[in-house]
Amino acid sequence: MSHIVIIGCGVVGAAIAYELSLVPGLKITVLDKQPPAQGATGAALGVLMGVISHKIKGKVWRMRQFSIQRYETLIPELEALTGRKIPFNRQGILMLCPEGENLADWEKLAKIRSSQGWKLEIWDTAQLKVNCPQLNCEEMTAAIYSPQDRQVDPVALTLAMVDAARSNGVTFHFGVTIEGYDLNSTLQNQPLEIKNTNVAKIDQLPLLENVDWLVLAAGLGSSQFQLSNQAWATPQSANNVSLKSLPVTENCPQFHTETKQIVNIKPVLGQAIHIQLSCLLGNPNFQPVITGDDVHIVPVGGGEYWIGATVEFPTDQEIGEPAKLEAVMAKAKAFCPALAAATVIKTWSGLRPRPENRPAPIIERLQGSNILLATGHYRNGVLLAPATADAIRQMIVADEIEF
Ligand SMILES: Cc1cc2nc3c(=O)[nH]c(=O)nc-3n(C[C@H](O)[C@H](O)[C@H](O)COP(=O)(O)OP(=O)(O)OC[C@H]3O[C@@H](n4cnc5c(N)ncnc54)[C@H](O)[C@@H]3O)c2cc1C
Repeated sequence: MSHIVIIGCGVVGAAIAYELSLVPGLKITVLDKQPPAQGATGAALGVLMGVISHKIKGKVWRMRQFSIQRYETLIPELEALTGRKIPFNRQGILMLCPEGENLADWEKLAKIRSSQGWKLEIWDTAQLKVNCPQLNCEEMTAAIYSPQDRQVDPVALTLAMVDAARSNGVTFHFGVTIEGYDLNSTLQNQPLEIKNTNVAKIDQLPLLENVDWLVLAAGLGSSQFQLSNQAWATPQSANNVSLKSLPVTENCPQFHTETKQIVNIKPVLGQAIHIQLSCLLGNPNFQPVITGDDVHIVPVGGGEYWIGATVEFPTDQEIGEPAKLEAVMAKAKAFCPALAAATVIKTWSGLRPRPENRPAPIIERLQGSNILLATGHYRNGVLLAPATADAIRQMIVADEIEF
């Protein structure tokens, strides 16, 4: 029986754990330094921009499409298994188009989506006013309505996946910080030994022997993981971390003691706000996510809405300033003036895991090793969690069959 250890229990790690728990004959352990859904997942708005995205082909579109389809079965499946309610908005996403927007591009995209079996509607301002009377259409030229896109509560979803995976036999350990692992044992088809785990908890982890696959789903924390010197001690493996050339001993002339970061993930801060209104915005029977000027208004029930989020890079000045969130709120009020009457329930922020110098996300097998990377999902980790879990499942199952 293969033993799979997943590091990280945000939406990505939890989705992988649940998906793998459906494969017979796997032993699965999930480790996280915190309780589940505390990292970026705990801050996310859960907007699932699949059909309405501009991606039309290749892996990025396939992943979005897979996730959008999988969510339709995943949510009822998890609710039935766990008895938990997962807030899942099936009323679509409405994207507002300001003056000057190239509608021809949207018309082209709508045709492509139709050929792919998806719907995308282009509404003129008259239609927009009828369907969403709460909106100020003065500076709008049109709106794009994507009825098959969704929004999900990321924390409720993650907790349900943890429960469901646990009931399928997955073991979870929270409060366990993994600081590194022994590279010598990351050779393909060799048992993996995780070391430097949190000392206080190590006694509870005898099960970390004989690990066949390590899945790194630690989001921003993935950057802390390093390959030790032996991985690139030989010239031919310097760039591609070819572990097959191991073992290298201290007598080897090329031996040196540096370490190499596995992935470089940088934080991009997002601030958001939870507000309350005395009544629902617009038509009570039509409460889609509304997006304008890269700001989402997300209905969460009972006249409450999440609004966000800022996108603040490490190189920006004055990161995390309340003024940045106020600017987001001002944008939202510009297209939805009724928000001026809102009471603030809370504000929060989180760090999106963005890969440095390469596209998001990173889902791959670290060459020559039994380490699988499922990280760096940046702005779309909730959307892409089901597709990521499926990709990881396929890598493991394909290898098991081959082996
Ligand atoms: C404000 C905001 C709004 C967002 N809105 C959306 C949205 O609308 N739609 C969308 O799809 N995405 C959205 N995102 C992005 C989304 O939140 C992330 O892409 C996603 O949560 C990444 O999930 P993850 O599981 O990879 O990472 P995380 O949720 O960060 O989980 C990683 C886990 O790994 C653990 N960990 C890290 N290091 C270690 C270690 N050494 N040992 C043990 N455990 C470790 C952490 O404790 C954490 O629990 C938003 C993000 C923010 C901040």
